[in-house]
Amino acid sequence: MKRRNFLGLMGAAGVSAALPTKAQAGGNVDFEGYPGSKGVLFDATRCIGCRKCEVGCNEVNNLPQPEKPFTDLSVTETTRRTENEAYTVVNKYETSGGPVFRKIQCMHCMEPSCGSACFVAAFTKEPSGAVTYDESVCVGCRYCMVACPFEIPTYTYNDPITPKVIKCDLCEANMQAGKIALPGCVNSCPKEALVYGERDELIKIARNRLEANPDNYIDHIYGENEVGGTSWLFISGVPFSEIGLREDLGTVSGPELNSGALSVVAMVPALWPLLLAGVYGITKRTDKINIKEKADAVAKAISETQDKASADMKAAMERAANDKAATVKREVAKVVKEAEEAAAAAAGGDGETEEEGA
Ligand code: SF4
Ligand code: SF4
Ligand code: SF4
Repeated sequence: MKRRNFLGLMGAAGVSAALPTKAQAGGNVDFEGYPGSKGVLFDATRCIGCRKCEVGCNEVNNLPQPEKPFTDLSVTETTRRTENEAYTVVNKYETSGGPVFRKIQCMHCMEPSCGSACFVAAFTKEPSGAVTYDESVCVGCRYCMVACPFEIPTYTYNDPITPKVIKCDLCEANMQAGKIALPGCVNSCPKEALVYGERDELIKIARNRLEANPDNYIDHIYGENEVGGTSWLFISGVPFSEIGLREDLGTVSGPELNSGALSVVAMVPALWPLLLAGVYGITKRTDKINIKEKADAVAKAISETQDKASADMKAAMERAANDKAATVKREVAKVVKEAEEAAAAAAGGDGETEEEGA
């Protein structure tokens, strides 16, 4: 681990014990952030576009290998977005100061719009600074994708069974599990273009760099205040708009900016159970109707079959009875005839004998 990639390790240990709980969830418009929360500082003047951060992210998140290998740097010349299988990408921008590379991933907003737009609270602003996503409660409405001002969340449309939203989680799961000490991308950067640490410390470092080399930097820390602040921070030698960062977002957080509209959205959580219950009820009722219709149809078919069978049986029995009676009659007649013939024969024989004897 490079010291300069990871700031405030010891300080963080002390702070983490004092961190508040997750009760202050992302999306609260009055939320000012967790003290001691972490973030990453990206310095565009140091990035060489090597894509090692993409490799690091790919490895720690066990993502499949990309179609074109990470060694193919030509892909940076196409403006790429994050994807289901690439939580971060590095793009090259032709700027007023020449080619500049910029890394893209979730910004881990202090007051995430994705979180406030999500009415089942699938997103959480963690005390660590990460904005995490819980697929187990996600209903797939994809409001988060619409709400994100940085167009970060993607969706696994090709997974019909368990589709989910995908985005960088600041390596929260791996970090909390103790599997890694630094986000994979930060750990892999050979140029220290990425520094992980307490957000407040990162802002100080960024400011020091701007002050130490004012000719090399735009005098602004992107993310310090944009959309209410983000856990990822950017400094650059060229205007941020030239490296694909929106400069029209202002400093008001997404949730606050949209509080009017979101108050309407906020009704959805309250209505949602009723809506679901209604839909569920209708569905169930429809099912019941269908089942009843099917049951009635089956019962009718069975009844008709039974009636037909009964009629057939009755007819068959009658036929059999008639046949039997006819047979009996025929047999009786036959027996009677045979008896008569026998009797006649016997009578004739006796007669002959008597005649013969007379
Ligand atoms: S960048 Fe987008 S996805 Fe990431 S926390 Fe902010 S609003 Fe959510
Ligand atoms: S913080 Fe983790 S998940 Fe996010 S881009 Fe870096 S390596 Fe990938
Ligand atoms: S690893 Fe560092 S230098 Fe290389 S592309 Fe990523 S951020 Fe830039």
